[in-house]
Amino acid sequence: MHHYPRPLTKLINELSKLPGIGGKTAQRLAFHILSMNDDEVFAFANALTAAKRELKYCSVCGNLTDTDPCAICGDASRDRTAICVVETPRDVAAVERMKEYKGLYHVLHGAISPMDGIGPEDINLKQLIIRLREEDRVKEVILATNPNIEGEATAMYAAKLIKPSGIKVSRIAHGVPVGGDLDYTDEVTLSKAIEGRREL
Ligand SMILES: [Zn+2]
Repeated sequence: MHHYPRPLTKLINELSKLPGIGGKTAQRLAFHILSMNDDEVFAFANALTAAKRELKYCSVCGNLTDTDPCAICGDASRDRTAICVVETPRDVAAVERMKEYKGLYHVLHGAISPMDGIGPEDINLKQLIIRLREEDRVKEVILATNPNIEGEATAMYAAKLIKPSGIKVSRIAHGVPVGGDLDYTDEVTLSKAIEGRREL
């Protein structure tokens, strides 16, 4: 690296740890931050620390929230008979962007992946089963894990666990490209995938 003063080198190092940020981009961002006025830099730094400090996971659904339960779980107008199971909080945001689904969510925080040593007990699956046992209004669980090997394995495993309870279990249709990421799927495709879900 160039001979930058230590604080600048440190800033570049931190920025380059972010996903998709290479050394060159990190330098460009660092110089951009230096060109910002003090208020802007403090607002930026505060947003980082406040997000980390104030956000937690909803004790009911596992979504990222600054209140517990989260705004969705706490919203009395949501349809409490349906739970959409997703891998990440970003997937909740993706489904919410369609503005069509009115049910609740459950965030697994990952997917089963034996190759990576991630088993059913390593994701937020047990909490879902407990939730279904305690909440008798749920009539359908929509498995919206990603359409890749891990997501499919997770959906199959979850379906096997839930089915004995008599609750309808469905899987989103393959409108979502195989190997794709729910979060990056466009709204129309995602909407069709949920609309065309099939019962397992
Ligand atoms: Zn919640």
